[in-house]
Amino acid sequence: MSIQYKTCKNCENDFRSNFDFCPHCGMKDKEGLTLTVLFYNTVSNYFSFDARFF
Ligand SMILES: [Zn+2]
Repeated sequence: MSIQYKTCKNCENDFRSNFDFCPHCGMKDKEGLTLTVLFYNTVSNYFSFDARFF
């Protein structure tokens, strides 16, 4: 099992990909994506319900 690294989008330092946030600047790597997906799902669910209701 090899150690993978990814680059922080904020400070551009490399850190291990098993970190959920950048240890250099503290920026969370996954939060933005998760929130975007959650928001998109909520909106799409709302509109599909709306379309059926009316
Ligand atoms: Zn960083």
